[in-house]
Amino acid sequence: MPDLNAVKTALLHVLGPNGITEDQSVIAPWLIEWRDRYFGQTPLMIMPASTAETAAAVKICAEAGMAIMPQGGNTGLVGGNTPQGEILLSTRRLNAVRSVSPADNILIADAGVTLLDVQQAASAAGRKFPLSLASEGSCTIGGNLSTNAGGVHVIKYGTAKDLVTGVEAVLPNGEIYNGLSHLKKDNTGYDLSRLFLGAEGTLGIITAASLKLFPKPSALVRVMVGLSDLQGAMGLLERAQGAALTMFEIIPRLGLSAVTANIPGLSDPFSGVHQWYGVLDFEYFTPGAHQSEIEGLFSAALDAGYIQDAVIAQNEGQAANLLALRENMSAAQKFLGASIKHDVSVPVARVPEFMIRADAAVTTLLPECRPCGFGHLGDGNIHYNISASPGEDSEAFLKHRGAMEKIVHDIVTELDGSISAEHGIGISKKDDLAMRADPVKIAMLRAVKSAIDPKRIMNPRIMI
Ligand SMILES: Cc1cc2nc3c(=O)[nH]c(=O)nc-3n(C[C@H](O)[C@H](O)[C@H](O)COP(=O)(O)OP(=O)(O)OC[C@H]3O[C@@H](n4cnc5c(N)ncnc54)[C@H](O)[C@@H]3O)c2cc1C
Repeated sequence: MPDLNAVKTALLHVLGPNGITEDQSVIAPWLIEWRDRYFGQTPLMIMPASTAETAAAVKICAEAGMAIMPQGGNTGLVGGNTPQGEILLSTRRLNAVRSVSPADNILIADAGVTLLDVQQAASAAGRKFPLSLASEGSCTIGGNLSTNAGGVHVIKYGTAKDLVTGVEAVLPNGEIYNGLSHLKKDNTGYDLSRLFLGAEGTLGIITAASLKLFPKPSALVRVMVGLSDLQGAMGLLERAQGAALTMFEIIPRLGLSAVTANIPGLSDPFSGVHQWYGVLDFEYFTPGAHQSEIEGLFSAALDAGYIQDAVIAQNEGQAANLLALRENMSAAQKFLGASIKHDVSVPVARVPEFMIRADAAVTTLLPECRPCGFGHLGDGNIHYNISASPGEDSEAFLKHRGAMEKIVHDIVTELDGSISAEHGIGISKKDDLAMRADPVKIAMLRAVKSAIDPKRIMNPRIMI
């Protein structure tokens, strides 16, 4: 058994009093997951303030055989951020934007910098960092890269993996890997930085990352549409992709009603009722170029019967309100009672088929349940959530979680999709991954883990 007191003393020595706490009242908020689905425990929380401190702390824990769970903003949704006895290593004091180079279009940030702060630093330098999630005020770059976060702009810019040239990471033995890079071209063997992207903290602690910046658009046009069905949304998506489309999100009627009824300050922009809604963004780099293209696109979509109505935001406030209708979906769904959630992807063209099949299958199992799938139509990622019937007892409803997940994931598998589109595996999908993934893939994942973390120090319960 590791000697916790000896480890504590050694950690205090390298981190100082601000870098370590065992006060459970201070630690408590970091042990609860955002949706109250996971509750954790830890003897210690450590908060190194530099890469060198992180390396020294990891070395102490590794030599004592004590497991570590890295944590950034604690916004992860698959239980991978909630410790069960591991030492909790918070990156919140790794919080500097180290450099911004507009010439290279590269920004280097410590892992604990929030996504919002990175976006703002990029903007201040006349550039755009395009990763965008509803949790961006709290989630961190280290967490974003470790989960390979997606968000609303994947259709144009890709996921977090596509937005990074390299990482600096502390390995499970305390060594520092420096893969930070300003280079666009570098063919010198395996791309080791990429091992840490989507690794969910199982291979080491990302301490910093070099991130790709993009030109800042001169105009953003945001449009919300009312639709009778998802086939119409697909028709619009196909046409819109010829334009400057960067986002295409969908919301079902139940979701919009939940948001407008429960989130103060948000209202339905349409006079009529629609079964589905879409929120679309278009970016333009030449002032004034967009007017005729946008009007032409949406009047053609109306004529073709793809959409029933459209609202074009006239100013930044209106644009923010339209996006807020989508971004508050998860928060508003809490008001509908208990829900069973899925984060899945299918080929974009198969989203309507997925929705129809999943709705039919889950309501066959539980006729009164309320399917409420929403999300990123533009990249095929649907947050397929199912709310309990009004007034239903939460515990009774949640007993169906396993059966519901199997039904939904079976359909996803049949449609050549993924059971985890953007949130990762964590604890919640660990068994499903082991059951469904190609055995060769599982063996390779295990081989990589054993090669880099033979003592299973880093997030040992997560993913594999
Ligand atoms: C309201 C809301 C909306 C969301 N929307 C989206 C969305 O649109 N798209 C999306 O992809 N996700 C979304 N998420 C999920 C979440 O915000 C992302 O997964 C995010 O990337 C997690 O970042 P974090 O800093 O909070 O990481 P945490 O939750 O702290 O950790 C997540 C995982 O990464 C590991 N980790 C954290 N930091 C490091 C590090 N420095 N080195 C190594 N491992 C590390 C942790 O151990 C854990 O396994 C949403 C969450 C909420 C609450």
